[in-house]
Amino acid sequence: MDNLNREATVTLSCSNLLMQVVQEGVREIIGQAGVNAVFNLGLQTRLLPQEGGPDFEQDLTFEEIAGLQIALESLYGPRGGRGIALRAGRASFPYFLRQFGERAGLTQMDFRLLPTQARLSSGLDVLARLLSNLCHITVRLEETPGHWLLWVENCPECWHRQTQEAVCHFWVGFLQEFMAWASNGRYYAVVESQCSALGASACVFQIDQQALD
Ligand SMILES: [Zn+2]
Repeated sequence: MDNLNREATVTLSCSNLLMQVVQEGVREIIGQAGVNAVFNLGLQTRLLPQEGGPDFEQDLTFEEIAGLQIALESLYGPRGGRGIALRAGRASFPYFLRQFGERAGLTQMDFRLLPTQARLSSGLDVLARLLSNLCHITVRLEETPGHWLLWVENCPECWHRQTQEAVCHFWVGFLQEFMAWASNGRYYAVVESQCSALGASACVFQIDQQALD
């Protein structure tokens, strides 16, 4: 089924468990008061309760996910909001690992014992598959000389947005932290080299294969 048909028949969404991970990252950076302020703006986004319950069970729509980033930008300014999204992406990774690491095989010994480059490459592949399962998105990993490229079609972070610069900073931070974790603390440059909010067909995250330090 192509994307247009899929859009017509289902509400595009991401798993509540993934969005709780995102929300925990945001909470680490701006605190509970900041989180409340973001959601009290009354923009189209939704706060998941920390415990279960009917509200918790409901997945977040792409509109609600893009709305979170828009709310951060309204509250802290475009640059401030994107800086927070970047740091929240980094901060959310440990929550992601706790929630999905075992299921994805990231915490298992045979993964941890792979040589670094193989661990990074297969870890990115695992992330691509897992994110494709958790959201109505297609994430594809491509390897080019010197870089890994993660292609995200239907990116929820910038869903239906038109901006002057790439805006999917949460995923940049998240990938930076994944790379640091999987390489035992090295720093790899990650940039969003194409963004759907700039008219590209997909958001593309370009990850250096050589650490900077
Ligand atoms: Zn984007």
